[in-house]
Amino acid sequence: MKILVLNSGSSSIKFQLRDSAAEKLLCKGLIERVGEPLGSIQVTTDKGKLLKEMELPNHTFALQQLLPLLTSPELGVLQSLSDIGAVGHRVVHGGEAYSDSVLVDDLAIKTIDELSALAPLHNPPNLKGILACREVMPLVPQVAVFDTAFHQTMPPVAYSYALPRELYERFKIRRYGFHGTSHRYVHGRARLISGFENKPSRIITAHLGNGCSITAIRDGKVIDTSMGFTPLGGLVMGTRPGDMDASLPCFLHDNGISPKDIRNMLQKKSGLMGLSGGLSNDMRVLLEHYETNPQARLAVDVFCYRLKKYIGSYAAALGGLDVLVFTGGIGENATAVRSLTCEGLQYLGVTIDPARNASGNRKEALISQEGGSVKVYVVPTDEELVIAEETDRLVRNPKPVSAN
Ligand code: ADP
Repeated sequence: MKILVLNSGSSSIKFQLRDSAAEKLLCKGLIERVGEPLGSIQVTTDKGKLLKEMELPNHTFALQQLLPLLTSPELGVLQSLSDIGAVGHRVVHGGEAYSDSVLVDDLAIKTIDELSALAPLHNPPNLKGILACREVMPLVPQVAVFDTAFHQTMPPVAYSYALPRELYERFKIRRYGFHGTSHRYVHGRARLISGFENKPSRIITAHLGNGCSITAIRDGKVIDTSMGFTPLGGLVMGTRPGDMDASLPCFLHDNGISPKDIRNMLQKKSGLMGLSGGLSNDMRVLLEHYETNPQARLAVDVFCYRLKKYIGSYAAALGGLDVLVFTGGIGENATAVRSLTCEGLQYLGVTIDPARNASGNRKEALISQEGGSVKVYVVPTDEELVIAEETDRLVRNPKPVSAN
């Protein structure tokens, strides 16, 4: 089946067209500046690239422009639009309603819309993508794959905040966790290649990209994860602080900083960017300046120190550790981050092999020493593959019930 995978943002749509039977990527691309005077659609195949610029007033119009490009002889991706068997959507928040992906129907649309209260920046544009497909391809089944779903196995002891109980009852304030599709994929790969597929396993997966999160998974089920009610908590990220003293926003507000500025600071000016004094949120730049710029060094060190603390605490939560996985732009590429993080974790059985670590970028690679009790891997993530597989599974085997 040919599956269109969409990740719809407020002004952009990332897409891939995949052949699920052949496990093949047919093309990928990006629609940008939707709603602005001049938008663009870029499609890349192994034969080349195509770029169209035009006004794209909304998501529906943008998709209407994209589809004919897929059948254009120039790209030769599809014979006919009727070849598209299903659309899979990345949806950020499934709340407590979804512990699995779902075939999109009216109830799913209503539920995703209601969950916008929990993810006001993400669920509304995700839903726009779904509604646009309904309009443009009304007969094609659609599936929503949630960033939160994999984490729904967390027990209350891991997802409950020590706040007044009524906040959970009234607003559903609890830890949800994000990046679930990525954690799920790299966990599955690592469990397979480490030989733990059919055995009890204690696995930690660290997704380190612009956003960063770490997850503890026992026997295939998430027992804890570092992002919380929103994707702001946990690890140090490119521009987000991760965990910090909860009283700080009130302190800043009491000192005359507006809620809007505080929100902006926590989303866009903190993390690596903040620690490096505004030098960069890009780990590549910080590593280049590690030896010469004390602020760049501090940013990298705080990043790795926080990560190391989480690995230790999750090993405690799991009662030991069998496999540790690095993924995401930083996890897959930054040899130095992996070695700095694992330094001193020998007591847990984590011993990195420097040569394997140095050559372990951008591919599946074992980077721990032979004979160490913990296997450490780099596994490049592939969220779109999971979305395509989930879409294929649900379209072939529709489940009767829409929400939990
Ligand atoms: P996103 O979370 O937006 O999907 P990615 O997973 O692609 O982002 O990660 C992007 C980040 O990965 C960049 O900001 C950069 O810090 C980091 N990165 C990419 N390549 C390298 C590299 N070669 N060395 C170190 N860090 C890298």
